[in-house]
Amino acid sequence: MAQPIGRHFLQIPGPTNVPDRVLRAMSAPTIDHRGPEFAALTREVLSAVRPVFGTSGPVLIYPSSGTGAWEAALVNTLSPGDRVLAFETGHFATLWREMAENLGLRVDFMPGDWRRGVDPEVVRQRLADDADHEIKAVCAVHNETSTAVTSRIEEVRRAIDDAAHPALLLVDTISSLGSVDFRHDEWGVDVTISCSQKGLMLPPGLGFNAISEKALRARESATLPRSYWDWGPILAANERGFFHSTPATNLLYGLLEALRMLEEEGLPEVFRRHRRHAAATRAAVRGWGLETLCLDEREHSPALTAVLLPQGHDADAFRGLVLNRFNMSLGAGLGKLAGTVFRIGHLGDFNDVSLAGTLSGVQMGLELAGVPIDQGGITAALRVLEEA
Ligand SMILES: *Cc1c(COP(=O)(O)O)cnc(C)c1O
Repeated sequence: MAQPIGRHFLQIPGPTNVPDRVLRAMSAPTIDHRGPEFAALTREVLSAVRPVFGTSGPVLIYPSSGTGAWEAALVNTLSPGDRVLAFETGHFATLWREMAENLGLRVDFMPGDWRRGVDPEVVRQRLADDADHEIKAVCAVHNETSTAVTSRIEEVRRAIDDAAHPALLLVDTISSLGSVDFRHDEWGVDVTISCSQKGLMLPPGLGFNAISEKALRARESATLPRSYWDWGPILAANERGFFHSTPATNLLYGLLEALRMLEEEGLPEVFRRHRRHAAATRAAVRGWGLETLCLDEREHSPALTAVLLPQGHDADAFRGLVLNRFNMSLGAGLGKLAGTVFRIGHLGDFNDVSLAGTLSGVQMGLELAGVPIDQGGITAALRVLEEA
């Protein structure tokens, strides 16, 4: 089969496009992970990664996917039979719940319609009702990648405080970190979970836990079985500039470069760029006469947009057409959204013209797939991009 000409547009919401700078940084020779050069790298990476989480505390880095980092957060802080409060915001929240139950936790899973974020009022109510403090943790997905809905974590924190409840706050920022404003310290998050292949513009392979002092104290009495994921030996090795098992050396080179890029642009500008691209994408969706999955104006994701197709149209067939004709990958509907929703990733290494190209491919694909749309989508999006 002939290779398609030109660049593939990888517009799924992760893995995202990896900048050439990052790819080049990763092509350096792999070094001795127990040597002095490595200790300098460890120290540099562990300090440069903190601002992205909004923390001055420790950040642990695992050779893992995001799923591994979920497990690390749970097994280091909780014990068998502990109750945790979680919210059915979408597919990823549902998978995290399954993991928690597999590990022997009891999950109070607040039902949801996959079109809204965590309701801070429900957090307040549930915790206020839990007079005996049986609930040990609140688990929330910041940016639910299956629905393109961003939960208001700052308000969740306030709800926990209003209830004067000691539960830990564990937050999945897997598809928001480096794209959407997030503040581990300021918002009193106890464990922030993330990974490399979304907003951080890296290939898959690194998982992260940013941890509070309260989370570290919880580890001392937590009894879920843990070994590979145990924070203890990793933190001890990090103190000396090393990792207790072999780290993903070349991904760490890439991480350092990606962090430099975020620092050069400045995080506030990075977040602003993502909000602008999301606004332009929503203008296109409205212009086409289609509907976003997200229902609450306050919760539209800056990182991606999920679009509902009208009844009788198959979102997967549409995505297949776009891939074949335009060499562009769009995100599939996940779980119960399969076939009815497609997702446009606009996070990571991305600019105005990349977005214009992406939306053009979507508009052409919708027309070719016979989805009834108005032609005004692209024009409406370009108008948003033309504004400063
Ligand atoms: C991608 C994603 C995950 C899963 O991460 P993996 O690296 O695939 O294990 C979990 N939560 C959210 C919100 C995600 O976007």
